[in-house]
Amino acid sequence: MKKNIYVVKPSLPPLEEFVREIEDMWETGIMTHQGPKHNKLQAELEKFMEMPNVTLFANGHLALELGLESQKMTGEVITTPFTFGSTTQAILRNKLKPVFCDIREDDYTIDCDMLENLITEKTCAIVPVHVYGNICDVERIQKIAERFKLKVIYDAAHAFGELYKGKHIAQFGDMSMFSFHATKVLNTVEGGCLAYKDGSKTQYLEGLRQFGQIVHTDSVPYIGTNAKMTDMHAAMGLCNLRHVQEYVQKRKMVVERYIRHLSGIDGIKLNRIQKDVVSNYAYFPVVFEEKNSGITRDMVMKRLEEHHIFVRKYFYPLCSDFECCKEIGIQADVPVAAYMSERVLTLPCYSELELEDVDYICDVIKRMYV
Ligand SMILES: *Cc1c(COP(=O)(O)O)cnc(C)c1O
Repeated sequence: MKKNIYVVKPSLPPLEEFVREIEDMWETGIMTHQGPKHNKLQAELEKFMEMPNVTLFANGHLALELGLESQKMTGEVITTPFTFGSTTQAILRNKLKPVFCDIREDDYTIDCDMLENLITEKTCAIVPVHVYGNICDVERIQKIAERFKLKVIYDAAHAFGELYKGKHIAQFGDMSMFSFHATKVLNTVEGGCLAYKDGSKTQYLEGLRQFGQIVHTDSVPYIGTNAKMTDMHAAMGLCNLRHVQEYVQKRKMVVERYIRHLSGIDGIKLNRIQKDVVSNYAYFPVVFEEKNSGITRDMVMKRLEEHHIFVRKYFYPLCSDFECCKEIGIQADVPVAAYMSERVLTLPCYSELELEDVDYICDVIKRMYV
């Protein structure tokens, strides 16, 4: 029987390296509460992203949820529905109202022309998503935010390690959230962080993360939760960070192989690497446009499954179609997002994916088009 190929698989350091990394924890007994591994990972990420402040969390979602909370906002937040549910949930959990903006056809990020039209006196922030690692129009978003005095909190869950015009992507906006979930480019098994310039936010964020307390004191000024990253998870992050460039290089080879096989087929639209961007090759989304070929996304998905290749409809359904949004009367005029969501598949893409497997996957797809 043929082996199964899944859409993602974690990038892991050599087991001995991880064992070496955690060995001293058996001596010290420090497992969590901003221990040495946590602090080292924080410092290394600050250096890596050239950011003055990084705060680590138990996962990316809580980082975003608490990052929004730290801005103390009320009202409306403009975001896109073509993303993982976490983005919208983090807004809703803060009792903020998501206002859904459509996406651009070429890179699926927020459409800045429409964005400006959605701004009202209630708008407090923009939460754009660097979806699939495609970078938003950060310069234009910056200008709009300055003009209307809005906060910008990026969902950069997909964008770790990416550069725009030579700058780490964390350097744009008021805050960026990165996810270190097992399937992301850099993983701590579960984990995430906020990167931000305003150092006066750190104490509050650490308080939100740890029961409302100012760490290492008896003072409890905030209403917080428990969203700490443990030292065990940070140890995995330290190991993976040493290998992250190598993971990205391997992903690049996978993506280039896909592009070689699948370019120029009528009815198949590929994700383009953007100008001025150093990509992390996090995902390989493909849009299947039946109007040219008669072949639908669901037909391709079924055919791949018959060959033990398991892909995902990322991102379907749209967040604006969630029952929890409909129930509170949220409406969205997002035709491009709806079109993409009905037609997109993300193909298997991870550092350990064999190039022969990419050949095999593409062969199954191409045979549908002859
Ligand atoms: C993974 C992801 C998140 C949430 O990150 P977790 O670490 O899984 O909590 C948020 N937004 C997007 C777009 C994601 O892909």
